[in-house]
Amino acid sequence: MNFPFVYEGQPYRVLFGHGMLGELPDEAERLGCGRLLVLSTPDQRAAAEEVAALLGDRCAATYHDARMHTPVEVTEDAMVVVAKHRIDGLVALGGGSAIGLSKAIALRTDLPQIAVPTTYAGSEMTRIIGQTEAGEKTTQVTAKVLPETVIYDVDLTLTLPPKLSITSGINAMAHAVEALYATNGNPIVQLMAEQGIAALYRGLPTIAQCPDDKDARRDALYGAWLCAICLGQTSMALHHKLCHVLGGSFDLPHAETHTIILPHALAYNAPAARDAVGAIKRALGGDGIAGRIYDLAEGAGVPVALRDLGMEESDIDRTVALVLATAYANPRPLEPKLLRRLIANAWAGVRPD
Ligand code: NAD
Repeated sequence: MNFPFVYEGQPYRVLFGHGMLGELPDEAERLGCGRLLVLSTPDQRAAAEEVAALLGDRCAATYHDARMHTPVEVTEDAMVVVAKHRIDGLVALGGGSAIGLSKAIALRTDLPQIAVPTTYAGSEMTRIIGQTEAGEKTTQVTAKVLPETVIYDVDLTLTLPPKLSITSGINAMAHAVEALYATNGNPIVQLMAEQGIAALYRGLPTIAQCPDDKDARRDALYGAWLCAICLGQTSMALHHKLCHVLGGSFDLPHAETHTIILPHALAYNAPAARDAVGAIKRALGGDGIAGRIYDLAEGAGVPVALRDLGMEESDIDRTVALVLATAYANPRPLEPKLLRRLIANAWAGVRPD
């Protein structure tokens, strides 16, 4: 346990449960918003139109073109809608892409945001905004982008396809795993991290088999929320650095990359993170924690090898170099040979112990 520590509570309001979307009009009123813009990706257009209908006169416009990694040209396009309709608040329905667009608009306008997350990615709980311009991703940390209100409606996650649910859920687990050994961790976040991993580990295997199971969906979304708080409160380490390099340099998909890397990053750090390992063992119900997470992914039929995402074997050395060039603080020092082995194993899909 980290003593002494700093714990900084965040000023968001969270509603959690089945059917919570029904509270949206009241939450809009609470924030004093009467000309809202509803944001989504193209895939969730129909669901976003239903949200607009629920808001009635309080919805001034909808925008359905949110994309992964928050491209600046998309934000600029949405800003035209904001100005044209004199928007006074934002509702983001969806995963990290829709919420990223909402944050990018809030960064430029300070408009209040209501996030309605429908994946387990966790952006809604962080002050982080990543934006992409001309293929370059830059990240800022500012309280301006933190949503004022977050509505977690378990029912909205029922349509998240099972495989995407598993990769998104393991992506969430990764936030909690790294929070457990973060240099700026604290006992409160550690409680949430352990509970978050446990709830996801309870829910995800059932979702893989029965995506309509409401209890499993509730467990997974609750776990994802706790893990998102962890992401928002602590600095991340080797696992997130690797995923950032792999996503940014080789355009690998976000949640799948996290899913493949997590067991390997965890196996690498385990010898230097005894307390974290203890918490993860309790959360997963036994030893062999890296192998258990690998088995969860493999059992659900999602990729466990970077080569299956299209990464070339010849890119392994470049990945090592990029990770070492600007490494994040990590519990175990980065040894080039061991790091190379980690990435090679993840590339080939070797099961860690
Ligand atoms: P995403 O938002 O792109 O969603 C993936 C796909 O799933 C989309 O096509 C979406 O329309 C669809 N979808 C989402 N919810 C659904 C549902 N309930 N039913 C059916 N389809 C649904 O992907 P993501 O993994 O949620 O987010 C990834 C993005 O978020 C990346 O750009 C990542 O960098 C960013 N992110 C940012 C932070 C942060 O703190 N700033 C944290 C985590 C992720």
